[in-house]
Amino acid sequence: MTVLDDRLVSVYDDVVARNPGEVEFHQAVREVFESLAPVVAKRPEYLDSAIIQRLCEPERQIIFRVPWTDDAGQVQLNRGFRVEFNSALGPYKGGLRFHPSVYLGIVKFLGFEQIFKNALTGLPIGGGKGGSDFDPKGRSDAEVMRFCQSFMTELYRHIGEYTDVPAGDIGVGGREIGFMFGQYKRITNRYESGVLTGKGIGWGGSLVRTEATGYGTVYFVEEMLKASDDSFEGKRVVVSGSGNVAIYAVEKVHQLGGKVVAMSDSAGYIVDENGIDLDLIKDIKEVRRARISDYAAERGVAYVEGGSIWDVACDIALPCATQNELDETAARTLVSNGCIIVAEGANMPSTPEAIRVFTEHPVLRFAPGKAVNAGGVATSALEMQQNASRDSWSFEYTDRRLAVIMRDIHDSCLKTADEYGAPGSYTSGANIAGFIRVANAMQAMGVI
Ligand code: GLU
Repeated sequence: MTVLDDRLVSVYDDVVARNPGEVEFHQAVREVFESLAPVVAKRPEYLDSAIIQRLCEPERQIIFRVPWTDDAGQVQLNRGFRVEFNSALGPYKGGLRFHPSVYLGIVKFLGFEQIFKNALTGLPIGGGKGGSDFDPKGRSDAEVMRFCQSFMTELYRHIGEYTDVPAGDIGVGGREIGFMFGQYKRITNRYESGVLTGKGIGWGGSLVRTEATGYGTVYFVEEMLKASDDSFEGKRVVVSGSGNVAIYAVEKVHQLGGKVVAMSDSAGYIVDENGIDLDLIKDIKEVRRARISDYAAERGVAYVEGGSIWDVACDIALPCATQNELDETAARTLVSNGCIIVAEGANMPSTPEAIRVFTEHPVLRFAPGKAVNAGGVATSALEMQQNASRDSWSFEYTDRRLAVIMRDIHDSCLKTADEYGAPGSYTSGANIAGFIRVANAMQAMGVI
């Protein structure tokens, strides 16, 4: 691991001591700190006035009970979270994740990353994240509805269009946002469109929001390719995952002339040398809510249960599944197979050891999730703009705005990396550019 600046080491040790056992949160903090040495050298006041220390302490953390009744009439119990991390730039903004792995450490790592990601978009949104250890897999629509209603019955008192604006993440899509918006509206007796994003088209949702994280990821990579006079044309691409981010990343890669040859879910991965048939994937994942192995069975292509999708040779790797899905061994395999770009569609999918392999490599370029996947939350902010002005924009206009935002994030990463003595490092550029924007706002607002 990169050695931290001495003063940052003591802040980091303090974060670890104050947040015991929250290993993903520690990892996310360390990744940012590893970029900050040149910043604190230039601007020691960020440490002296405890801006960095305050940034690591959420403004508010809410943990609550979520009881609900399953279809058999049994009472089930889950835990709900909302971590309102930083509101220097705007209302807390970030998704809700419903997955059995969710605990405070996951929510805090996601919330912490969200602060910098949201800052990078240039839009007026703070950082927050939430969710539950509820597992939607195998649950009926009625069970999911009852869970969402119970979750919102507590959450509603903490959120609002000027306070905190949740959206989706793993396990939370249009169906869940619909149930939660309905319950919020019923409890508050307000049609407050701007309280949630990712709403349905026709009741306050924005066109392109569904596609935005995946499309944005690919727009970012397109900029990386353009920076070396290259393009997606003829590129072999591997996309891990088969959720919302992965599906729309594949769609955009295909539109731009690349070929995605492998996708995965938590059980295994498929390889289709003819290029993934996205209509079939959408049907399996969005309609049937089934396993990716169905694709292999129906198309007669290879399915590898368990195993690592990163064994599949590619020019471009887009990890779009979940945190720490790509480890050092996978990174070495990608490198030896000639991969030239790794760009994170998911949040923190590469382990610190994998990132070290990428950054030490002379040819491969690596770009971190907080820059690459920022198109999702950026389009959420565009949804908030449409809600505030009671307007709705066309697909083409919104998509153009998304593409421009991704280009600007890309350029600001490279420019900031140059300015701070780390030319070409998307990681340093993203961390520093996001940090400076939030830190300056916090400084202007005094000790709060
Ligand atoms: N969950 C997404 C993310 O990781 C989107 C959050 C949002 O739209 O608020 O950025």
